[in-house]
Amino acid sequence: MTMGDKAFAGGTALYGPKSGFPHPPFRESHRGGFHHIFSMGLCLLIVTLFLPFSGSAEELPVPAHELPEGFCYVHELIPDVILDIRYAGTHNFVGDPIDGYEAPFAILTNKAASALKEAADEFRSLGYRVMIFDAYRPQSAVRHFVRWSQVKDDLRMQAEFYPDFKKKGLLVDQGYIARNSAHCRGSAIDMTITDLDGNPLDMGTGFDYFGKLAWHGAKGITAEQTANRNLLRDVMKRHGFKPFDHEWWHYRLGNEPFKTGFDFPIR
Ligand SMILES: [Zn+2]
Repeated sequence: MTMGDKAFAGGTALYGPKSGFPHPPFRESHRGGFHHIFSMGLCLLIVTLFLPFSGSAEELPVPAHELPEGFCYVHELIPDVILDIRYAGTHNFVGDPIDGYEAPFAILTNKAASALKEAADEFRSLGYRVMIFDAYRPQSAVRHFVRWSQVKDDLRMQAEFYPDFKKKGLLVDQGYIARNSAHCRGSAIDMTITDLDGNPLDMGTGFDYFGKLAWHGAKGITAEQTANRNLLRDVMKRHGFKPFDHEWWHYRLGNEPFKTGFDFPIR
């Protein structure tokens, strides 16, 4: 389960054996070009304005900075964020890297990223750090999920992610895989919190556990696990995010800047 996964702890081992990423990662994806200079400049400005300390993201590949207006890389705004971008590797419910994830970055709308930065500041003051599993999600990734759900005998990741469900029912009947995901609009985040050393708090289930144990208010988890979920929820709500009853890790900005989804790749 994810709770014991130390491969990403501290934000310094993003390419460990569990990440599914090759070494060295994606250096060739850095591209110049005049039309990218503006967004690069914006991100540099943001880093300069908000950088409280540095160093935790040093093993990330170089971002391509090919983002539509209104989007940014989360680690450039929150340097101590821990990125465990599951769909960029193999440790996810499909078991393969997902379409559209060419690099393990968290991308959000500027508005959602700014709100998350405020939440991260509060978490840090309480002795915690933010860990992100997924943020902006290309629509091609959702199409990949749907395609996967239609292959009935691919149950490689069932034991960890959906032990109680028949796969066929996941998509339509249970609603765990949405065709129109809020993530594609760039203002939703799948996340948890860690201690300052990067060890995730015990939330009772891992990320993307499809089942009632992952619901807020679930029976069958300990008081401490419930308290940890509530801590995450309370701070995120204070900074404008809405929880989702059936996934303790999912938060969506209440006042989203975009109404429709995007399909640019994460690189
Ligand atoms: Zn989510």
